[in-house]
Amino acid sequence: MKKVPDFFGSMVFNDTVMQSRLPKDTYRALKKAIAQGTHLELDVANIVANAMKDWAIEKGATHFTHWFQPMTGITAEKHDSFIAPDRDGRIIMEFSGKELVRGEPDASSFPSGGLRATFEARGYTIWDTSSYAFIKDGTLYIPTAFCSYSGEALDKKTPLLRSMEAINKQALRIIRLFGNTSVKRVTTTVGAEQEYFLIDKEVYLKRPDLVYTGRTLFGARPPKGQEMEDHYFVSLKPRVSAFMRELEEELWKLGVLAKTKHNEVAPAQHELAPIFTTVNIATDHNQLTMELMKSVANRHGLACLLHEKPFAGVNGSGKHINWSICTDKGTNLLEPGETPHENMQFLLFLTAVIKAVDEYQDLLRVSVANAGNDHRLGANEAPPAIVSMFLGDELTEILEAIETGTVYHGKQKNQMEIGATVLPRFPKDITDRNRTSPFAFTGNKFEFRMLGSAFSIAGPNIVLNTIVAEVLREFADTLENAEDFNDDLAALIKKTIREHKRIIFNGNNYSEQWVREAEKRGLSNLKNTVEALPAFVAQKSIDVFTRHNVLTETEIRSRYEILLENYCKTLRIEALTMVDMVKKEIIPACISYQNELLQLLRGKKSCGDYDFCLEQHYLERISKLSACLLKNLDALENAVLKTKDESDALTQAGFYRDHVLGAMSELRLVVDELETIVPKKYWPLPTYSEMLYSVY
Ligand code: ADP
Ligand code: MG
Repeated sequence: MKKVPDFFGSMVFNDTVMQSRLPKDTYRALKKAIAQGTHLELDVANIVANAMKDWAIEKGATHFTHWFQPMTGITAEKHDSFIAPDRDGRIIMEFSGKELVRGEPDASSFPSGGLRATFEARGYTIWDTSSYAFIKDGTLYIPTAFCSYSGEALDKKTPLLRSMEAINKQALRIIRLFGNTSVKRVTTTVGAEQEYFLIDKEVYLKRPDLVYTGRTLFGARPPKGQEMEDHYFVSLKPRVSAFMRELEEELWKLGVLAKTKHNEVAPAQHELAPIFTTVNIATDHNQLTMELMKSVANRHGLACLLHEKPFAGVNGSGKHINWSICTDKGTNLLEPGETPHENMQFLLFLTAVIKAVDEYQDLLRVSVANAGNDHRLGANEAPPAIVSMFLGDELTEILEAIETGTVYHGKQKNQMEIGATVLPRFPKDITDRNRTSPFAFTGNKFEFRMLGSAFSIAGPNIVLNTIVAEVLREFADTLENAEDFNDDLAALIKKTIREHKRIIFNGNNYSEQWVREAEKRGLSNLKNTVEALPAFVAQKSIDVFTRHNVLTETEIRSRYEILLENYCKTLRIEALTMVDMVKKEIIPACISYQNELLQLLRGKKSCGDYDFCLEQHYLERISKLSACLLKNLDALENAVLKTKDESDALTQAGFYRDHVLGAMSELRLVVDELETIVPKKYWPLPTYSEMLYSVY
C-alpha cells in the first residue's frame, strides 16, 4: 500500500509543483501575486497555464473547470476540455493564460437577488491564486471568485477574501502599536468539524422526502433512538470504516488535512475534522469534503445526509468552526502569552472578539440562519438561538479582576495585583469544556457552534472577520492617539470588559433559566430565520460591511432577498413533497389496509363469543385517522396556495413560517400515528429504525 506522505497532495498544483515546473521568474511573479493578491500579467499567466495543463494531462486530466461558490451554498462548475483543432484535422491540448485567469459562465441561472437581470447574463469567474488548483475526476479545478459584469460579488468567496483583507489591515495596526514591525500579514485560521449521517442507499432511495429535501418529513419515533448513548465514539462498523478510509484518501490526495473521525451521539451519525488552515482554504476544503462525502458514500452503497436535522427527535448535525487569528510568523494572537506584555496583546484581541460578538450578535445569528437550522437551534442537542460566549471560569475571573481592579487569586494561589502590565501567567489549559455554548473560547481559539452541517462556512467567517476588524479599527483609532499607551491600553481593556461582559455566560445554555437570564441581560433571542434575517439589512450591518469594503449595500440587499427566497422555496418544496407522498404512498397504503380489514370483517358472520372485535376496532381507528389525514392534507395545500397572495418577500417568509410550517406538523402527526397501526407490508416508507440502523 502506498504511504500517505507519498500521495498526500498528489492531485494539487501546490507550491512544490509550481517550483519544480515553472521557470524561476514566473514562479517568483506568481508567488508575489499570491502573497499580495495582485494581478497576474498575461504573459506570466500563459506560462503558468501551460505548465498546469502539462501537469494535469500527465495525471490523466482532459478537462478544466472554473470552480466557484455561488449563493446556493454549494459549488458550481462547467467543464471545458483542453482540446483544440489542429490544421491537419487532428487535435492538440491547449490551455491559455486567459482561460486560466478568467471565465465567462452564463450566470443567469444562479441566484443574484435581483442584482443581475436574466438578460444581462454575463458573469465572470476570476482565478483565486491564493487557493491551489487541483485535479478531481479527470478535471483540472481552478478555484475562482464569481462576480457580475459590473463587478458585484455573486458568490461567497469574494466577500470572504475581502473580509480577510479587512481583518488583516486592522490587526496589523494593533500589532504595530505593540512595537512589532516584522509581521507582514495577519490571517484568520479555521478548522471546520463536519457532522453527517450515513444510511444505506437502498433505504434512502425509498424515502422521497430525503431525496428531495434532505430530511425526513414523516416518521414515527423509533423504539430505540439515541437514549442509550451507545454510539458516541464506539468502534466503527466495517462499511463505515471502509467509507471513511476511502474518503480520507481522496481528501488527502487533494491536500485536505483530514485528521479526526469518529462516531457521533446519534445512531448513524459521524464526524470528520481537518487540521485548521487559512480561512479561504478551509472554506474550499470544507466544500470539497462535503462533496466527496456524498460521492464516496454513493460508491459504497451509502447515502450521506448533510441536512442539519434529518430526523426529528434525534440529534441534528452541526458544523463547528474553530476560529483564530494568526500572523505570517506563526503567532496565534489568541494564544495567551507567557509574558505580561504578550498578555496585554492577547487581552486586547480577546476583548475585541468579546465586543464584536456582543455588538454584532444579530449578525452572527443571521450567518447561521436557514430553514434547516431552525429545527436544530434550541433543540436539545444544539445551542439556543441566543448568541453568548463561554470563556471558562478562570479567564472570566481574570477579566472580572481587571474590571474591578481587584486582586486575582489564581489557581496556583499566587495572588497578584492586576495592574496595567503585571498579569499572572495564564495557566496552560485555561478553559474547561462547555459543550452547550454557541461560541466558546477553547484555550487559543474560539469555537462557533451554531452552524448547521450543510452550511458553507464562508458566511459566518465573513461576519466574524468583519466584525472583529471593526472593533480592532476602533481600538487602533483610540490607541494610536494615546498619550500613554500602557495606561490607555489598560483603560480600554477595562472599559470593554465592563461594557460587554453581558455576552459572557459559562453556564448551561440549554436550560430554561438561561433564556430568561439572557432576556434580562438584553441579549437577542432571534428564534427563527424569519425573525433573524431583517438584522442583515439593519443600518448597523450595512455600515460595518460597507466601511470595510466587504459587501456593498446593493450586495447586502440582494443577499437578503436570496436568503428569504431560499427560506420560502425550502418550505414550499417540503410542503409539496409531503402532499405528494401522502397522495401517492400514504393514502394507497391506508386504503389497502382498510380493504383488508373490510374483507376480513365481511368473511365473518359475527365476532361470535368475543365481545371485542379487533378488525372492527382497527377499521374505526383507520377511518378516523384517514378523515383527519384528508382534512390536514387539504389544509396544507390551501396554505401553500395562499402564500402566493404575499408579494413582499419577508411577509411571504412569515406566512410560510406561521401557516405552512404549522400545517406540515399537523399533517405529520396524523401520518406518524398511521405508521404505528398500518401493517409493515402496506407501509411504503422505511421507518426511522430501518434508516438509523441500516448500516452494519
Ligand atoms: P473538539 O471536538 O474538542 O472541538 P477537535 O480536535 O475535533 O476538537 O477539533 C478542533 C479543531 O480546532 C480542529 O479542526 C483543529 O485543527 C482546530 N484548531 C486548533 N487550533 C486552531 C487555531 N489556532 N485556529 C483555528 N482552528 C484551530
Ligand atoms: Mg468541536
